[in-house]
Formats: sequence, C-alpha cells, structure tokens
Amino acid sequence: MISKEDLFYKIGSLEQELIELGAFLHANPELGNEEFQAVDRITTILQNNGFLVEKGLASLETAFRATYTVGTGGPVIGLLCEYDALQDLGHGCGHNLQSPSVLGAAIALSQLEDLPACTIEVLGTPAEETTSGKIPMAQQGYFDHLDIALMMHGGDRTTVDGRSLAVDNFEFVFEGKASHAAVAPEKGISALDGVLMTFNGMEYLREHVRSDVRIHGIITDGGIAANIVPERAAAKFSIRAINRPYLDTVVERALNVARGAALATGTKVHINPIKSLESKLNVQALNDLLLNNAELVKAKNITPPREQTGSTDFSIVTHRVPGACIRVAFVPQGTPNHTKEWVKASNSKEGNEAIMTAAKTMGATCIDVLSSPELLKEIKAQFSAEKEVQNNLVLQ
Ligand SMILES: [Zn+2]
Repeated sequence: MISKEDLFYKIGSLEQELIELGAFLHANPELGNEEFQAVDRITTILQNNGFLVEKGLASLETAFRATYTVGTGGPVIGLLCEYDALQDLGHGCGHNLQSPSVLGAAIALSQLEDLPACTIEVLGTPAEETTSGKIPMAQQGYFDHLDIALMMHGGDRTTVDGRSLAVDNFEFVFEGKASHAAVAPEKGISALDGVLMTFNGMEYLREHVRSDVRIHGIITDGGIAANIVPERAAAKFSIRAINRPYLDTVVERALNVARGAALATGTKVHINPIKSLESKLNVQALNDLLLNNAELVKAKNITPPREQTGSTDFSIVTHRVPGACIRVAFVPQGTPNHTKEWVKASNSKEGNEAIMTAAKTMGATCIDVLSSPELLKEIKAQFSAEKEVQNNLVLQ
C-alpha cells in the first residue's frame, strides 16, 4: 500500500531545491517560446532524478517531456507545467510556481519504493500567455496517451475550475482612404469610423446574448494625426461563451457587426482570427480528488469550484483526456492576476507554501488514481459522458 505520508515526507525533503527553482524562474522571467533558461534548469533537475528528457516538441523549442516509468502496462500520468512570464511585468501570473510544484510531485512519486506500475510524464508547455503551446502539442498527439492530466496554478483561493470559457480572438483591420480632414474631407473615407461603428454594434449585440457571453475589445490603430482622415484603423476583440456551439453563433453575429460597419462607412474590413480556445471539460471525480487532497494537506482558503472563469489553453487537453487543475491560494482573496501584487507574491513565503501545497495535492491525487483501477475507470467514464454532452449540446 503506497502511503501519502511517505510521499509528503519525500516532497518535504525536496523543499529547498523546489523553492530555489521557483526563485530562479522568478528572477529570470522569460516570454513565451523564449523560456530557454527555465527549460534548461527544470529538465536538468528531472534528468538528475532519473527522468528521461526530450526537449523540443511539436516544433516548439521550449516544450519538453520528461518520463519516468515503473514496470509495464501501468497508467500514464501527465503532470503539466507552464513557465512563461508577462511582457514588462515578469511573473505576474505565478507560472514560476508551476514547475517546482510538478517536480515536487513527480520526483517524490518516482522515489516511492512501492509505486505500482505506471509512467509519470512531466510535460513542459510553453507560451500559455501568448501563442498557447498546448494547442500544437495537442494537435500532434502529445496528450492522447495520458490516462489523466494534472496541473496547478496560483490563485486567490484554493479551488478547482468547473468550467472555463471558450474564446475566439480576432483582429479587425479597416481600410479607408486618406485625405486632409479640413481641406478635403469629402475625398476621404475614415477607417476609424469602421472601427467605431464596430464598437457601437458590439454594444447592441451585447444586450441580446446569453449572460455567460463576454465581448471585449481595444483599438490598436486609430490613425496617425487628427487632421488626416485615417486610411487604416484596427481593433482587437475577444468573444467568449461557456460552450463552443453557442460561441460559434455569437461569433458569426460579431463578425457581421464588423462587416456591417464596413458597409455603412464605405471601408473594407479584413478579419484576422488570432487564437481560439475551447471551454474546459469538467471531470467531477478528478476535481473532487484534488480538492479532498488539498484539504488533507491543509491548503489555505479552500472554496468550491469557481463560477466565474476566463479561458485557458489547458482546455484543449481536457478535450482529449481527463484533466484538472488545482488552484492554490497565495495572494489575498480578490487580488487579480497579471498585477504587481502577483509578481511580488510569486516569490514570497506564501508562494513557496503554495509550491509545497500543490506538490502534495497533485502527488496525493496520483496515489489515489494509481491505487484504485476502479477510480480511474470512473474518471474515464465521467470524461466520456461529459464529452458526449458537450458534443451534442442543445443550443438554448
Ligand atoms: Zn496563468
């Protein structure tokens, strides 16, 4: 019988190394797809602990996989980590806490003498904040053979996500005709008018959609001088909803707003899709395990699953295999991410505690799954059922 106490003891003995890793990543923030120092440091530790490391997956130089196998034919457990930072801010989303947490769980598990047959795969998934490394990794099948996938994220409370929002992002570029705005306005066509009418149209659209829909945009190009009729103007929009079929209908209406704005203003609009993410598939049994283990290790500020969420590229993983993410409290409740407060907390006593809590919570969840084939069966059955529901969702 594998014991969680043994696991916690082993994670405890790794504490110093894990905290140093978190501090190193915090002191050396790297943007998405440029996380070379991070990957070197993380994979070196894994290699030193007997994991087989492959760097560069799915044409992503800073993706990696580190594998440790015991026996043959056992379940494959995926432990995912991100390590990218934010432009001009550093680790304002706390991604420097993820690999120390995952390494704590993975290495401690690998050191358990009575670990049943299994494979532990640590998967490094780059550029969550920008291009979303998990998308090409998923498309090339890097998650398909996993029996479960787990990850952690820092938060203002300890919880799990029931769902996340599906999102489509677009850039609208309007083309008009430049002219002197005072001398010959009649010869100009304002591309900015197209952008402004798009914003107005989105406000009308907003009133007649379901309450889970989010529509938000910024103007990225509004012309170059007040006395020149703008010949180019551009905006970026994100459109979100709790499920894909409904989102698709809202997106079509939003694109028609932009097309209508172009028609009304005599401009041309180019619609450039930027990034698209699915809503997360929820496997209750896996979420329950994570929360129960968070309670067991006395995580701070445990609350029920979040109702209000944004979007995450982890969702694409949850459409392929049963997946769940434990959010671990390390900032005061209500502190938004992508802020200086998060940067500070990501390298603090609270951040370090979150690493240890997350390592133990994920490690204990792996023990639960590895100790009970019935439990894994139940998790897989729930995953298949949820997928079925999502794929056949009736629009309301
Ligand atoms: Zn994040």
